Amino acid sequence: MSKQIKVALIGNPNTGKTSVFNALTGLNQKVGNYPGITVEKKEGICKLPRGVKAHILDLPGTYSLNASSIDENLVIELLLNKNDKDFPDVAILISDVENLKRNLLLFTQIKDLKIPTILVINMADRMNRKGISLNIPVLEEHLHTNIALVSTRKNDGIQNLKDLITNYKDLSLEPCLDTSSIDVDYFSRLKRAFPNQDLYKLWLVITQDVNFGKITRQEMDFSQFKTKSESDLKRLQQKETIKRYQFINGVLKIGQTIDPSQARGLTAKFDRILTHKVWGYAIFFIILLTIFQAIYDWATVPMDFIDASFASLSDWVKQTLPSGVFTDLLAEGIIAGIGGIVIFIPQIAFLFLFISVLEESGYMSRVVFLMDRIMRKFGLSGKSVVPLISGTACAIPAIMATRNIEHWKERLITILVTPFTTCSARLPVYLIIIALVIPEGRFIGLSFQALSLMFLYIIGFMMAVFSAYILDKILKTHRKSFFVIEMPGYKIPLLKNVGISVIEKTKTFVFEAGKIILAISIVLWVLASYGPGESFSNAEAIVSSENTNLNGIELEDKIASHKLEHSYIGIIGKTIEPAIEPLGYDWKIGIALVTSFAAREVFVGTLATIYSVGSSDAEQVDTIKDKMAAEIRPDGIKIFNLASGISLLLFYAFAMQCMSTLAIVKRETNSWKWPLIQLFGMSSIAYVVALIAYQFLK
Ligand code: GDP
Ligand code: MG
Repeated sequence: MSKQIKVALIGNPNTGKTSVFNALTGLNQKVGNYPGITVEKKEGICKLPRGVKAHILDLPGTYSLNASSIDENLVIELLLNKNDKDFPDVAILISDVENLKRNLLLFTQIKDLKIPTILVINMADRMNRKGISLNIPVLEEHLHTNIALVSTRKNDGIQNLKDLITNYKDLSLEPCLDTSSIDVDYFSRLKRAFPNQDLYKLWLVITQDVNFGKITRQEMDFSQFKTKSESDLKRLQQKETIKRYQFINGVLKIGQTIDPSQARGLTAKFDRILTHKVWGYAIFFIILLTIFQAIYDWATVPMDFIDASFASLSDWVKQTLPSGVFTDLLAEGIIAGIGGIVIFIPQIAFLFLFISVLEESGYMSRVVFLMDRIMRKFGLSGKSVVPLISGTACAIPAIMATRNIEHWKERLITILVTPFTTCSARLPVYLIIIALVIPEGRFIGLSFQALSLMFLYIIGFMMAVFSAYILDKILKTHRKSFFVIEMPGYKIPLLKNVGISVIEKTKTFVFEAGKIILAISIVLWVLASYGPGESFSNAEAIVSSENTNLNGIELEDKIASHKLEHSYIGIIGKTIEPAIEPLGYDWKIGIALVTSFAAREVFVGTLATIYSVGSSDAEQVDTIKDKMAAEIRPDGIKIFNLASGISLLLFYAFAMQCMSTLAIVKRETNSWKWPLIQLFGMSSIAYVVALIAYQFLK
């Protein structure tokens, strides 16, 4: 295999890095995480002429090499470490034609690291409208680089870019700024102390608080630099920035002309409405409702279809294959488990369809502008609103939606608190328990039962915000205020980008979180289908001899109930009884708590089996309800009374009862640490709240 050219895409946020990445790699891409952090790592392969291939890495958006976030640190660490396996042979700096001046700051810094750098000037299709014209040869000469004028929207200039990558060895390595001109005296002393080091790299090592592969801060004798105080160093950094802008201004003066009469206009008008103090929020709210409705309603049709298909597939397997352990495992364990993964696809696809359209159109930046101020007080980002609201349908797509949050800490906090919002799987549990324990009656025209349901939604959301606030205090990471944030212009979304985003997100979920979900569902199935000793293996005989008057379906239901009670899960349910008794639950509820870890709504189905009312079909719900209402404790009190009912409702509101959520959190944070913290943290909160509620009300 011939060696691949290693290419890194670098640039300010929103300049079109991902679009260029998509144009170069198509679906030949893989998205992972950098080890230990939630920053997304996108890699792909690009085929070049003559069988040459390039490995393309899409780096997080960066304004400059003066790091202010984990994402930016990552870019600097990579560019300073020649030994990193991703260290690029050639860097491609993506700039956007409307913000060349700001974009070129980063370009000059990367050039000065003596990395061969191609300059892509993207969004060329907007030049006419904005009255911009460029003299490319002049720019190439003064910036010492090769330029590709590209429009990913029109698919222009991509071939030229590929040619430039192929011939990357022709690129000039001449720097843009002579580093020592920043402070002649200081830098000549530095040069004497480290004659073998590159001055600009050294300067970054001194001023940036990041790791640098082989050159660690400890290995260097820092007393040398202590001739400058912190504030002096800051001043020098500012001087560097000023010098760079002087250089850039000089180049643009001769290489770029802008006809001001063409610029601005429509964007400003849109902005005035979309970021308006009242209309801005109203429009955003309507958009959120639409998204919400889509993942709730529109996704139900394909979801029901998937549900039904897997159920009939499972039946078909059972009827066709010879009965036995393997057939049972296939039909009830594996096929049902895969069904439990595939069922999420419609919601994920719909949510990302909307989100990527919002991102692509430029609207998401306005949302951040609108919501950031409020959300930041709680350690969240303006973009956290979308996951928190879509969590009302399901936490899985919601947690994946946090990928659009650039800042690591804000993203992590959003991931950790999103499962508190009331997802649709809690609804069946809430409905049946509310119907059982909350009395009918009205308060100013609203039924108690409806009010209770609303209250549960509200406390879920409040708990999310409150825990975000606490986590923000715990996870202290220092954070400088933002550099310039310019609003990107409004654009019609690129279909290709939207499509790739939807496909890629769905694929990640199915293949990465899916593995874990499948494994846990098989384990749960085994635990529920097998049990130790006589009372499980002889269930048929035992139950038939005890119930000679029963036959047919009723007998089968009784047997199923007996088997579940004596299965491993039944034993777990009984074992945890002492722990859950103070919450007002018995071992039957205990079993349902364990099985509903597969998905919360399984709670109702499990109780149906235990009370031997057969399957959890809709027409059975009333029967289950009657059975639940009739359950009596040894001391004569109803099992589902006001105190234990409210305790259960609160438990389901706060507990992390969902293996699929854990699986996706593991995938998105790239470690088991955070899902486990979430599991234990949320379960403890749920336990304590339910305990207090029960003890107080009983
Ligand atoms: P990134 O943040 O740098 O990865 O940028 P993206 O690739 O996500 O693009 C940001 C926005 O610019 C999206 O709305 C894209 O549709 C849009 N965009 C990307 N390339 C072009 C282009 O060539 N022309 C125009 N008009 N818009 C573009
Ligand atoms: Mg991007």
